[in-house]
Amino acid sequence: MTKKKKSEASHDPFNEGVNDGAVDFEKRIRSAFSAGGPLAGATEHFMHRDGQLSFALDVARAIENHGTEVIEAGTGTGKTFAYLTPAILAGCKVIVSTAGKPLQDQLFGKDLPAVCKALGVNASTALLKGRSNYICLYRMETAQSEARLPSPAAVRDFQKIAFFAKTDETGDRARCHGVPDDSPAWPYVTSTAENCLGSDCPRIKDCFVYKARAKAKASDIVVVNHHLYLSAMALLADPESAGAGDDARMLPQADLTIFDEAHKLPDIASAFFGTEFSTYQLKNTVKEMRAGLLSRFKSYLKKNNWDQACDAVIHAMMDFVLRLDEIGVGEGVSRMISETADAESLVKPLDKTFTALATLIESVMPVCEEDAEITKYCEVLNGLSVQMNEWIEALKTPKEPAKTADGRPAVRWIERGKTEARLNTTPLSFAEDFAKLRQMQAQSAWVFTSATIASGHGDFSHFVSEMGLTGVETHVYASPFNYADQAMLYVPESMPDPKTSEREDYIEALIRESWPVIDVIGGKTFILCTSYRAMRHAAALLRGLISANNRAYEVLVQGEDSRTKLIERFRKTQAGAILVGSMSFWEGIDIKGDALSLVVIDKLPFAPKDDPVLLARSRWIAEQGGNPFVEHHVPLATIALKQGTGRLIRSEHDRGILIIGDRRVLPSISSYGRRFLESLPPFSRTLKLERVLDFWQHPDTWS
Ligand code: SF4
Repeated sequence: MTKKKKSEASHDPFNEGVNDGAVDFEKRIRSAFSAGGPLAGATEHFMHRDGQLSFALDVARAIENHGTEVIEAGTGTGKTFAYLTPAILAGCKVIVSTAGKPLQDQLFGKDLPAVCKALGVNASTALLKGRSNYICLYRMETAQSEARLPSPAAVRDFQKIAFFAKTDETGDRARCHGVPDDSPAWPYVTSTAENCLGSDCPRIKDCFVYKARAKAKASDIVVVNHHLYLSAMALLADPESAGAGDDARMLPQADLTIFDEAHKLPDIASAFFGTEFSTYQLKNTVKEMRAGLLSRFKSYLKKNNWDQACDAVIHAMMDFVLRLDEIGVGEGVSRMISETADAESLVKPLDKTFTALATLIESVMPVCEEDAEITKYCEVLNGLSVQMNEWIEALKTPKEPAKTADGRPAVRWIERGKTEARLNTTPLSFAEDFAKLRQMQAQSAWVFTSATIASGHGDFSHFVSEMGLTGVETHVYASPFNYADQAMLYVPESMPDPKTSEREDYIEALIRESWPVIDVIGGKTFILCTSYRAMRHAAALLRGLISANNRAYEVLVQGEDSRTKLIERFRKTQAGAILVGSMSFWEGIDIKGDALSLVVIDKLPFAPKDDPVLLARSRWIAEQGGNPFVEHHVPLATIALKQGTGRLIRSEHDRGILIIGDRRVLPSISSYGRRFLESLPPFSRTLKLERVLDFWQHPDTWS
């Protein structure tokens, strides 16, 4: 363990007058969380919570024993303080990884400085994001000098970004205010692993990405995200891989690695350990290379015919996408190749693309040695042609069991966007891959935590086996909220069976049953749907009811504005808003107070049966004698349900109603209902509307 030198700590209230060696780690943690202890002054509403202290002691034990802890901590447990406190007091090197940027920013900007300050520890900290979050000086200057920007809007935003890059130390685009996230300028001023020139870059000395990595490597505590963590470890395991340049290590050797929002890790790891050939990436790389060639090697154009060669690749690729349409893999469809009718007919257009690409690469070779950027594009295109070749072979025998490059069972599947396609190879298990990456930090202790990891009552087996963890300690710390008084779960008894009723009828029944509750609460409702179709139908029905009843509730629907703006409008709407969303609104939204008082969930959130990865994993589990529904589908759905439910009660002062339209949640209706119910917070429960209305209107009699 890399202990912090005593001189580095500006003031440690625990060490005053005490021999450092004699200080007992556990005592220091207990003292930190005590009523009059240093953390009590760190936040306005600090209160002692048994679960928080126990969590912190678990982390301390993991540090001392190099152990692995998997901890579910309910909303309000205070888990960030629980893991940061022992991590900071131990004075060791720590990596904290989150699934998304909001928690990453909150940890780095708020919680970490607050805990360090309260404990009087002067730890060096760093925030490291993926490279697309930083301005790339080389690409920015190239875009300007070669006039690559595609529109006046891009030029306008570019000027703001260029000014920002001159004045900001970090180059982190989140700090560049006034340029929207979806600005067409961003791709021209940020890099990817494929187009970064690494050690060949003329701007590497000032490069924001490399500076952020250098800072992270030298810091005591680094906050990253799951995808970046996996990339960083993969780069260490294979330093020759793309983008490594001469600096494969971007994170410190950690003594403690903490994954918060760990319930998202399996999905992120599953995608990370697979491979993807994307027609968008191919088209984009060809377009960018063409722009570079035209601006710097125009005089060679006639001789080498690049322009036509670029066109030939793009046209052949478009034919491939058109063929996908013809065989039923249209926009929005995801399908295994083994389930795709006439998949063999894709070989011809893909082969044509492959040949056109080989011609393009050959025609560009003469200038490669003269230009680092063109060389880099050629490397990327070579990599894509290798992938394409693998796919041509796979499509010749689409029914053959798919394998990863090292021969493990996998699924090959195609995913369609509007004008592009992604060809994916996903391993059926990524446990081994994850274990290998953990070996890159072999001396680290590990903590995996989230409000939703366990399925049923404290059953972590699904998460532990998916991630391939061994020798783990597991713990559940319940939320300190008084759920029975604060919230009621209502399952309307007259709801039809979701498996046998028509979808439209089912949603009509749900809205009919929910309307009296929505109206008595005054909007302030999230309707969480399991499909876009249900979402659109529910929104239309609600708008009709609002107009028929002469109410002023505003209905906000996913897709009608950005997620951030919809949530902002939801918070601000005085007349009471009703937000209707699909799966992306089930998690990561924290609305405290009475702006959100009702959550309606249409169905138990089982993943779509035709999801290719789910389907392939289910068959694989069955082949090994397991029960995919019990071992895979139900655990995934219980965790998703917990996430959706978790939007309702965010503080000890919140009150609310949860309506679940799906009666399969009742143990009397389905064999797995109990597992779902046991996963939910212990709200009061009812099947009767009168009791819901009474609960809402007479809070005093329910507390
Ligand atoms: S090293 Fe890569 S990211 Fe940095 S400026 Fe150069 S091309 Fe851009």
